[in-house]
This record gives sequence, structure tokens and C-alpha cells, in this order.
Amino acid sequence: MSIVDSALPVPALTDFKRIVIKVGSALLVDRDRGRVRLPWLISLVEDIGTLHRRGCDVMVVSSGAIALGRTVLQLPGGALRLEDSQAAAAVGQVGLSRTWAEALAHEDITAGQVLLTLGDTEERRRYLNARSTLERLLDLRAVPIINENDTVATSEIRYGDNDRLAARVATMASADLLVLLSDIDGLYTAPPAKDPNATHIPVVPRISAEIEAMAGAAASELSRGGMRTKIEAGKIATNAGTHMVIASGQVKNPLRRIREGGRCTWFLTSANPVRARKSWIAGALEPRGTLYLDEGAVAALHRGASLLPAGIRRIEGQFERGDAVLLRGPDGGEIGRGLVAYDAEDALRIIGRSTHEIEELLGHHGRSEMVHRDDMALGAK
Ligand code: GLU
Repeated sequence: MSIVDSALPVPALTDFKRIVIKVGSALLVDRDRGRVRLPWLISLVEDIGTLHRRGCDVMVVSSGAIALGRTVLQLPGGALRLEDSQAAAAVGQVGLSRTWAEALAHEDITAGQVLLTLGDTEERRRYLNARSTLERLLDLRAVPIINENDTVATSEIRYGDNDRLAARVATMASADLLVLLSDIDGLYTAPPAKDPNATHIPVVPRISAEIEAMAGAAASELSRGGMRTKIEAGKIATNAGTHMVIASGQVKNPLRRIREGGRCTWFLTSANPVRARKSWIAGALEPRGTLYLDEGAVAALHRGASLLPAGIRRIEGQFERGDAVLLRGPDGGEIGRGLVAYDAEDALRIIGRSTHEIEELLGHHGRSEMVHRDDMALGAK
């Protein structure tokens, strides 16, 4: 199959249930005035409103804090020193969130600000926290506006660019689509600014070495990521069962344009995000302990329920919150595996008890489930 194969079918935007939209600084912030490009943002928010009203869960990863803050603080042009970019982010993030919240309010949508650092997606204990917060916001029909917590992130502990951050968020939240809005309308066989023969690629069925070689390293002054980080994001997303599309954000209503067949590049995944996550739980992690369940809990799990403390008879092992544990039935047979929401010490205090007793037993209000159903991979019965 040729690399440029326009005959491959592409998904429709209306096929997706949970979408992460990444907006780059160069689109959101007017480079000369250092202000938000409001008419464009309003047009994007209209598109978000359309998706949201259809019942789609929408998350936004928005850059722009540093670009906005540096203008307010009158910092010099060019690359900023770390402490200056942190100060700029601290100032700019305030306006960035307010702007999103006000824009989304026009569509009757509530915004929630979520600032993440690398550990929130890479360490399993914190990952469970960040993921539950996003889930809860989405349950409540709010739109999380996510950025890196640049004010505290230093080079060793940062994602550094929002393309990869958006891909991590998408996989963490089991999104089925990641949209990267960019100043370019997709991937070309060579950087089009440098090579007049560059051809646009509408669909990438798999990110091969050849595709990676096409990326070059272009990055604009305001944004950190070039095509290379977008391809990196594509690898993270498609490996975890999330499709990705790169589309131009230099037009108004950029999502409507994707829906109407405007030029963009689709990176396809053959996996499904929930299945990909469950196979990671089933295979990649070393179990640190065992939970022995009663009959009722085993039956409930097979009906798709989460595992509550009440259904656990005993536990073994010195596990921490977020570790993988084996789930065994009353006869000792393995039912499946899951990520546990309590460490062994706390788990011991609440097993066999009902959920409303957790607070009294532990002295704080913990999660209702011992293992959430999304954090569980059941084997064959
Ligand atoms: N987090 C940075 C900001 O909000 C942007 C990083 C990026 O452009 O990828 O300014």
C-alpha cells in the first residue's frame, strides 16, 4: 500500500463519544498583540457546543498561558528563561481560564480548570486521581480546560509540549479521538514551507518509520511542538486505542470543517481505548496482592459492576493505592486483575463493610469502589 492512499476510509467526527481537542498557542493568541483571538475562539466553542449537545464528552487541552502572560509582564521576545516562562504562565493562566470559561458560557457549558504535571499521568497512584477528577467533571457535563502546570514544572519533570500532554490526557481518559488543531492542515510528505513538491497525506493507517521521517522539526515561536511532537502524540494515542486527527485551526469553526470533509490527516488505531487499557491492566503489570471476593461480588463483576469493599472477604499482600492486584473468587480461582483504589492497610479496615461506613472507618471520605470497573480486566469465567 502506498503511503499516500486517499482511498482509505476516514472516520466521521460524529462517530466519537469522547473527544480531546488540543489548541495551540499560535492559534489562540494573536502574536502581535499578545491577546486571545476571540472571534476564532467563539467559533471553536460553537463547534464544541454542537458536540456537547449531542452528548459527546469534550475535553480541551489549551496552550497559551505563557504567550498571554509574557505580554502582560512585558517580557522580551524570543526564548524565555525558565523562571520567566513560569512567571508568564502564572499570570497568563488566569486570563486563559477565564476566557475559556466565558466563551463556553455562551453555549451554556461549564468549564473546569485542570492543571497537570508529568507525574499525574505517569505515576499510577496520581493517575487514578487525575482520571477520576476528569471522569467526574464529564459526568457533570462540564468541559475540562487542561494545561500543563507550567508554574511548577521544571525541565526534568515536564511534558514540555501540549501535543504529548493532550495524547496522555486522551489515553488516560479513554477518549476515542484526539484532535490537534494546528497552524498546518495535516501531515505532508515533507515540510511544505521548504519543499514545493510536498504532498498532503489524508490518512495514516500506522505510524511507520517512513511517516516519522516526514515530520521534520518545524515549530513556531509561540508553540513548543512541531510536527515531530505531533507524531509522538500520534504514537501514544494510537497505541492506546485513540484515533488522532491533525487539522488546521486557521479557519473559523475548525471542527465543523473536519466534519464537512476539510483537509486534515487522520491517524488511525485498530484498538479500542477501553480494551487497550484493560489489556494493559491484564498483561503489563506485576500484581502486588490479592483480593478474595465472595460469590455475590463475583456475579456483580461479571454483570459489569465495580468491586465494592463489601464484597471482599480477605486480602493478601502489601500493595499500595494504584497497584495491580489479582481478584480471586471464593474457590481461589482467578477472576481477573485490577488497579486497587486503597493501600493494603486501609483496605484491611474497610473490607466486608458497606460503602457508607468508609468515612467513619478511615477518618476520611475515600472512593466508594475498591476497584473501579474501568480499572479492571476480567478473565474468562
Ligand atoms: N503549556 C504552555 C502554555 O500554556 C504551552 C506548551 C505548548 O505550546 O505546547 O503556554
